[in-house]
Amino acid sequence: MPAASPHRPGAAPSDARRPRGVPSGARRSDSAASGARPAGARRAGPHPWVVELRELGRCAGSMQQLERTLPAPPGWGVELIGVPEGGEVRLDLRLESVMEGVLVSGEVDVPVTGSCARCLDAIEDSLVLDVQELFAYEGSTTEATSEEDEVRLVEGERIDLEPMVRDAVVLALPLAPLCTDECAGLCADCGQRLDDLPPDHSHDQLDPRWAGLAARVPPSPDASGGDNRSEEN
Ligand SMILES: [Zn+2]
Ligand SMILES: [Zn+2]
Repeated sequence: MPAASPHRPGAAPSDARRPRGVPSGARRSDSAASGARPAGARRAGPHPWVVELRELGRCAGSMQQLERTLPAPPGWGVELIGVPEGGEVRLDLRLESVMEGVLVSGEVDVPVTGSCARCLDAIEDSLVLDVQELFAYEGSTTEATSEEDEVRLVEGERIDLEPMVRDAVVLALPLAPLCTDECAGLCADCGQRLDDLPPDHSHDQLDPRWAGLAARVPPSPDASGGDNRSEEN
């Protein structure tokens, strides 16, 4: 049988050559900014977020450690900040078989990008969250006594971690993210970042072309209060 696509060294399409083993310390901005969707991300399997429970079993008390790094699906965000699609979501979770189902707990680490609610500067940060959720067995008391959309379920012998992690991340995202806690925002007059301007930045000074005229005009009407009082009487 002839191979459908002959393997000629050097003829590989550039896309297939994307570095797969990018060191974890690599700058986040690289992958986020270039919008690189490594082909490998899609090849990780049809349901990279789904965990098979065969290994864990149903024996209450058994445990399984789960460490995975998965590409973030689209749509994890709020108005000003979110997880870039394809960003590395690191899961460090413990699956624990309990009477009612599977208790998932541990840590989630995601990159976040967005813009400052005060000065609109770009924000690049990461978010580390503790999560804990019970995935109930179908037919368990927990399932029977909960509203359908209130409980996560073990489906078949699998759990889907994506909705759980997404909800935890989206809930933790600030509605008004700040570049720094002390961000002073923008100058109302010129629109520049106040933190980038000298502390004495102000627009009080008159245009120099009017300086000569200003010298001949009384500084402010309030200063000559005597006149106002006599007019009121
Ligand atoms: Zn800011
Ligand atoms: Zn200004």
